[in-house]
Amino acid sequence: MKQELVCPACESPDAIPSFRATDRFLGTTSRTFQLYRCRSCDVVFIFPTPSNQDLSSFYPSGYCWADDDPLNRRGVRARKRLEDIYRRFVLQDHIQFILRTVRRLQGESRPIDLLDIGCSSGTLLHELSRRGIPVCGLDISEEAVTYAREVYRLECEVGDLEHFPWKDRTFSIITLFHVLEHVANPRAFLGSVRKRLRTGGVLIVQVPNLRSWQFRCLGRRWHGLDVPRHLVNFPETALKDLLGRSGFQVLRQKRFSLRDDAAALLSSLFPVLDPKGRSVRERSETARAKSSGLSEMFLDFAYFSLLLPAVPLALCDSLAGHGATIMIEAQSL
Ligand SMILES: [Zn+2]
Repeated sequence: MKQELVCPACESPDAIPSFRATDRFLGTTSRTFQLYRCRSCDVVFIFPTPSNQDLSSFYPSGYCWADDDPLNRRGVRARKRLEDIYRRFVLQDHIQFILRTVRRLQGESRPIDLLDIGCSSGTLLHELSRRGIPVCGLDISEEAVTYAREVYRLECEVGDLEHFPWKDRTFSIITLFHVLEHVANPRAFLGSVRKRLRTGGVLIVQVPNLRSWQFRCLGRRWHGLDVPRHLVNFPETALKDLLGRSGFQVLRQKRFSLRDDAAALLSSLFPVLDPKGRSVRERSETARAKSSGLSEMFLDFAYFSLLLPAVPLALCDSLAGHGATIMIEAQSL
């Protein structure tokens, strides 16, 4: 069936070709994809949308983080443990953002239960459950959900909003961290999310920000575009408008992420150092045969040496209102 060229955020047909790009970070395909810009809301999107079969091939094994090593090498396991400590440390501002919402709802004597859609292997949910918050997670990756269940003992299910495993259950908080940009029809998706929230329930959503200085400087090389996995890329205003049209009231936003912003700059400039790309290559047998523990340690050292000076740069961008990511709390009306 021929796809119609309309903006996936505002439905305007006034979209123009912007640039072509390929999978720079995971190398899952050599195809190039055409990105269009909506002249009405400035959203940039891939058109035509790849088929579901193609989309699933863009998410290889190793896409979701796990601390195991297919070959059970001692050096790799030690490295993964250190990585786990780092990942939990940089999640702190996500956690603080959520805790502020939890405290507000508790102050209003509202019950608290949180669903993380796109929960991956469950590190964030594990941190929240350790703080006494009732949580559950949903992800399309069976590999990730199995990990979250077996390692963290979390209530996680494989599925999506169309194949929702909890039938009539609703939640007081739903989180979408780096999910909405992967969805071909974000309007319909937010409508389905809203149905899973109780009246006055809260949506917390984070996406890469197309209004960022990183995108302005790096263009198609920017990690935040992550072609062909990110189907729709939002500037902050377009995301807020979309939330408003989908029945949400924006309450607050945060334009800095300790986990994501400096890392996006670094991965854009040095894709070979990108941790997700390395994790995927780690799972590929040919790459594993070529790499040694020593070369991986050198890449770790290079990554963290460059990450430290990138953090203040990313912080300056966000203070100027042009951070690489935007995190929003919005209430269902
Ligand atoms: Zn638009």
